[in-house]
Amino acid sequence: MMIVMRQGATEDEIAHVIGRIEAAGAQAHPSRGEFVTVIGAIGDDREMIAGLSLEGEAGVEKVVPILKPYKLVSREFHSEDAVLEIRGRKIGGDNFCLIAGPCTVETREQTLVTARAMKEAGAAMLRGGAFKPRTSPYSFQGLGEPALEILVEAREETGLPIVTEVMTVAQIPAVLEVADVVQVGARNTQNFDLLRELGQAGIPVLLKRGMATTIEELLLSAEYIAAEGNEKIILCERGIRTFENATRSTLDLSAVPVVKQKSRLPMIVDPSHAMGTRDLILPMARAAVVAGADGLIVEAHPSPETALCDGPQAIYVDQMNAWVADVRRCVDLMGKVMAGGEPAEVGV
Ligand code: PEP
Ligand code: MN
Repeated sequence: MMIVMRQGATEDEIAHVIGRIEAAGAQAHPSRGEFVTVIGAIGDDREMIAGLSLEGEAGVEKVVPILKPYKLVSREFHSEDAVLEIRGRKIGGDNFCLIAGPCTVETREQTLVTARAMKEAGAAMLRGGAFKPRTSPYSFQGLGEPALEILVEAREETGLPIVTEVMTVAQIPAVLEVADVVQVGARNTQNFDLLRELGQAGIPVLLKRGMATTIEELLLSAEYIAAEGNEKIILCERGIRTFENATRSTLDLSAVPVVKQKSRLPMIVDPSHAMGTRDLILPMARAAVVAGADGLIVEAHPSPETALCDGPQAIYVDQMNAWVADVRRCVDLMGKVMAGGEPAEVGV
């Protein structure tokens, strides 16, 4: 942390600030310029240094943090990419992970048909919501626990690990029984109690960026999970809310290189919820891969017109082979390896 003293700060004021830093067990490194003095505070316990509240001291102009406010998830302390392995599927580093499946588990048939097609197309994991965060209380809220049983059946048949959302602390035990990765949705990015509990549960967490969450806030939310001892975290950009309404959200692809620079965690992209319309998803999926994303999460449905949730953005299951083959070319271009699943034969 750097403490910038006011122009004309007295020697007593400077000495007082140095004294406070040293009394807290840190080292003070003053640099005296012609006009201002800047004091560096260096110590192992940065929370404690930050907690000194030196902003209020006489003669202090401002206090500038040097290190990021998050540490476990940052690159400052561990520079290598984190690589997670979920039932043999790697994510992070040179591995590219495609997660695909229905928005929502509606029926056994719809889920199994979709799961088989995702596996055939080369997806590494199966997504599917049992508990759905719906904007309207009158919309279908998900099948709940029976959906979890259907997801288990889909995993047994296809071998695809399950990614499913948890909305509340109370749902955690049921979801933990079956999920390989627990999704925290955009509406819960800053549900800190939920994040802490998932940190304690130790299960891999797919943490989505909220619609009005900055990148730094996303990383701080990840830090909540990591601070409980769980560093198995996958971050996800899914679009943010802006004045633009041509798409469902505005896909902030700049978040990918920014996060990858600041954090060692894998970062994937959800072009489905960002674009909201089927035909717009592929171009942004390609762009996400080339921007450096470690994976994608996309929605698919056998008959999107009848879907109970997010039909307009669901890729037709029978078009998934060609869709994945297209994305795979971008993955190859980036020199990454697609995790899991053999590609289906498609005429490309
Ligand atoms: C979802 O993945 O179906 C979902 C609800 O996503 P988000 O939280 O990004 O809106
Ligand atoms: Mn959805």
